[in-house]
Amino acid sequence: MIDAHIHLDQYSEELVERYIHSWIESGVQSVVAVSTSLKSSYKTLKLKQKYPTFIRAAIGHHPEGAPPLQGDLHELLHLIKKEKHLLSAIGEIGLPTYSKKELYELYHEEVFIETIEQFLQLAKTEELPVVLHAVHEESEKVLTLLKKNYIRKAHFHWLKSSQKTANEIICCGYYVSVTPEVCYRKRDQKLVQIIPLDQLLIETDGPWQFNERFMGRQTTPLFLEDIITCLSNILSTPREELGENILKNTEQLYVIK
Ligand SMILES: [Zn+2]
Repeated sequence: MIDAHIHLDQYSEELVERYIHSWIESGVQSVVAVSTSLKSSYKTLKLKQKYPTFIRAAIGHHPEGAPPLQGDLHELLHLIKKEKHLLSAIGEIGLPTYSKKELYELYHEEVFIETIEQFLQLAKTEELPVVLHAVHEESEKVLTLLKKNYIRKAHFHWLKSSQKTANEIICCGYYVSVTPEVCYRKRDQKLVQIIPLDQLLIETDGPWQFNERFMGRQTTPLFLEDIITCLSNILSTPREELGENILKNTEQLYVIK
């Protein structure tokens, strides 16, 4: 199993150090560690150097916060080129949804579009996949930007979108992931039924916390096991087959460097 999206830099170093071996022993082969800012990108790169075979690193700037300062953006784009040998992707990048009301009072939407486009252009020239935070109506906007920039490899993480947009994403050959929410939320259970098995990924988005059976439990890659069990029931597909497919998808998209 591979956790296709986790914010490993947001866990304490002690926790990662203490538990990483138990994750590996429980069948978690690796994780895609994503970043949210320049500082977070440096942390991810440090983790990648410490655990080179377990971590697939992605660096970028998360869209639900203020856009990066010009200097930081420049440094981040430069870092992507310089450390490309350590990277499996650029991300997480996208457009804001949850904080757009506050953000768009302070910044023009255009600033966010320009930022994601700079990352997309670099992803194209460096031939790196992109990890996308693009939900609800922004999923459609980001999809348009991917097409405009001729992006071939993209992952819509924890997708929430209309069926129409989800179908378009699938038609473009992009990947979509589900979180532990698929175990208890109808919306995700419906979505997963239209995603072809060769475009499906699983993720925890840790340390984000979940409800129902996951309530009060620290989110770790160990939740992947629960996701596969739930998917197996929803899709009436044997666990083993599902696990193999999802693993193959993740490895195809996020090649280990
Ligand atoms: Zn995330």
